[in-house]
Amino acid sequence: MGNKVTKIGVLTSGGDAPGMNAAVRAVVRTGIYHGLDVYGILRGYQGMIDDDIIKMETRSVANIIQRGGTILKTARCKEFYEYEGRKKAYENLKDRGINGLVIIGGDGSFRGAVKFSEEFDIPCIGLAGTIDKDIYGTDFTIGFDTAVNTAVEAIDKVRDTMDAHDRIFIIEVMGRDAGYIALHSGIATGAENILIPERKTDINDIISSLQEKERRKKLVNLIVVAEGDDFGGANELHKILKEKMPQAEIRVCILGHIQRGGSPSCLDRLIASRMGYHAVESLLEGRYNVFVGIMNNKMHYIPLENAVKNKAKISEEWLKIVKILAS
Ligand code: ADP
Repeated sequence: MGNKVTKIGVLTSGGDAPGMNAAVRAVVRTGIYHGLDVYGILRGYQGMIDDDIIKMETRSVANIIQRGGTILKTARCKEFYEYEGRKKAYENLKDRGINGLVIIGGDGSFRGAVKFSEEFDIPCIGLAGTIDKDIYGTDFTIGFDTAVNTAVEAIDKVRDTMDAHDRIFIIEVMGRDAGYIALHSGIATGAENILIPERKTDINDIISSLQEKERRKKLVNLIVVAEGDDFGGANELHKILKEKMPQAEIRVCILGHIQRGGSPSCLDRLIASRMGYHAVESLLEGRYNVFVGIMNNKMHYIPLENAVKNKAKISEEWLKIVKILAS
């Protein structure tokens, strides 16, 4: 390493997130502004292995800042877990003279980048693109704000219909390993209970809180559950509650993939633009194998290997707020 970066590749990898296009746009335009050749690598690491790589121009990223998904496509790539796959990817990049990479993805994609940068002399910069917000070392990840706002909008609608009846509503939001969408959307919609993977769910607590609310004639009860809650998702919870409270009318709503789609929020467009810009600056300044995070409104550059070794924690403060406000 140590050679000047002149040709960079940008890719989106793993689960897609709204705002990835804004990040790609920022990387391409900042790169071109600095006189770099910029290449778009299609379908994440798979495109690196298959040499599915296209030259990007300023106009290639026109009119995409407002679009969800990713114009570069994304994929999960089995071959990249193996050294042979990564070597093939490296050779393709080398043949094209690409000597810097910007990887927009979640912690899995960062794990791949750590392996790749340990083995080969192409510096990598990560941008946290994930609706789950589960990356250590940044206050924001690209896509979270849009996803959580989509969840809030949907839950508000469910609440309107709940108010017309006396019901318990269980709403499942995304988050296989992380409870941020559930926590934030649950607080913002006044949920009575929020179930997240990071906290052990005690079903007896939930039942007694529902029964206590019934006694107080609080007739509408909203439970927001992350799909990866340790107890299980919405359907599992429904089954158990129905057994314990057979008289209760309980409805389930699973929000699913709508949370991934849609036009990115203003905040996601801004952070994606800012992070994309700093990713290129970072490569040019020789700050390699880091990911670009924002903390307290300042850019932070965290070694990729630290990012994958640590997990973003849910703050105790939020958990306390949930308990007090849901009474
Ligand atoms: P996300 O980036 O959204 O967390 P994944 O966990 O599916 O999504 O990771 C995206 C891709 O990153 C994987 O399909 C794989 O190609 C690569 N990857 C993930 N973990 C590793 C690893 N330990 N070693 C090599 N490549 C990895």
